[in-house]
Amino acid sequence: MNAGLPREQIAAGTDVFRFGEPGDSAYVVESGRVEVLAADGRLLALLGVGALFGEVALLDQQARTATVRALEPTTLLRIERDHIQALLKRADPVIRHLLTLLLARFRSAYPGAMTAPAPGSQAPDQEAALRTLMLTRDLDYGLAHGQLELFYQPLIGFAQCNLVGFEALVRWRHPVFGVIMPMEFIGLAEKTGLIHQLGHWVLQQALADWAQLRTFCHPAAGLPAFISVNLSAPELSAPAIVGQVRDLLNAHAIPPRELKIELTETVIIEDREAVGSALEQLSALGVAIALDDFGTGYAGLDTVKSLPIACLKIDKTFVQDIGQSLRSYEIVQSAIQLALSLGLTTIAEGIEDEDTANRLSEMGCGMAQGYHFARPMPLAEVAGWLADAAASRRVHP
Ligand code: C2E
Ligand code: CA
Ligand code: CA
Repeated sequence: MNAGLPREQIAAGTDVFRFGEPGDSAYVVESGRVEVLAADGRLLALLGVGALFGEVALLDQQARTATVRALEPTTLLRIERDHIQALLKRADPVIRHLLTLLLARFRSAYPGAMTAPAPGSQAPDQEAALRTLMLTRDLDYGLAHGQLELFYQPLIGFAQCNLVGFEALVRWRHPVFGVIMPMEFIGLAEKTGLIHQLGHWVLQQALADWAQLRTFCHPAAGLPAFISVNLSAPELSAPAIVGQVRDLLNAHAIPPRELKIELTETVIIEDREAVGSALEQLSALGVAIALDDFGTGYAGLDTVKSLPIACLKIDKTFVQDIGQSLRSYEIVQSAIQLALSLGLTTIAEGIEDEDTANRLSEMGCGMAQGYHFARPMPLAEVAGWLADAAASRRVHP
């Protein structure tokens, strides 16, 4: 365990660190003895072989509140914060949050033992850490016990104001915390590996619900109505994904062209080879691939050129200020032009008002998504929403 840690030989009477010095290492006493002194010179502890000191410095950037001095020739193993942080970065999220919690607990148990947080440093948010820890623990159970649910957000064709499809968006009804949004738990599912089970559940549920959802859709002649599902990087680089999609489409007797898979540019960069191969195979099956959050990623036009992308979803950050920002307007306009010239379809997401919808329609955008038309909703609410939307002529049935 000690392999690789640097050793320091300390002469008797030498300070290892002094009160007020910024902490960046902890030490294990390998031989010899040290004393720990408070700022006022009070003796706090005598530490012998095997003792650890300075450990709080491994988790925060704060100054030392004690002086540690060698009482005799002493050998110390140094554990650097950078080293611990590199390990933490790679570690399980549960362990990371457990450590954050332990630190917070240490702070409240020994308030005098720590100086006030340095300006600009971040005190760990105990409640947030606890929540993450509980969510990580509960997701497995929630998935197996029907706590996940799909909401559906309508997609509207601009030309005829018709309902052309839905995007499936996952929600988690947690027994203690209530409805939890995907931004909070998809990342946890990715880190714990549960994303594969979760993604499989989403796909099969969306395809099962599609039988009912498609009856509401009225696509333009020759075009398929479709259900859109989001897949993240680990899902798309799993070797089994293509087979799973094919089996689920077969099991629900759904033509592949009625399924759209949405992925972000980051998904592609993370494992370009595996993702590229999965996309080629899905596209060959007839499934349409949409590039989500277009304009916010780093993959650039190369992605559009080299992968079988059939649809660009223009990110809401640009859509939402085309009325105020010329730059956003130009970005959206050129994305639409690019799509048109490559024969791709376009969806503008995050349309919240009529003015934005009208502008996008004039700009030649193909499809609309946003609160102006509908928020994501449970399957049971779709029929009621459609009746209202048709009555107010926002959507033509
Ligand atoms: P996304 O794919 O970009 O989905 C669109 C998000 O924008 C959704 O948030 C939706 O509720 C929200 N939205 C739609 N219209 C508007 C609008 O007019 N204004 C504003 N401000 N927001 C709007 P949501 O449901 O919280 O989902 C967040 C993200 O979580 C999704 O972003 C997607 O990346 C991910 N996600 C959702 N469901 C799944 C899933 O089943 N699997 C995976 N891997 N990721 C999912
Ligand atoms: Ca999406
Ligand atoms: Ca999006």
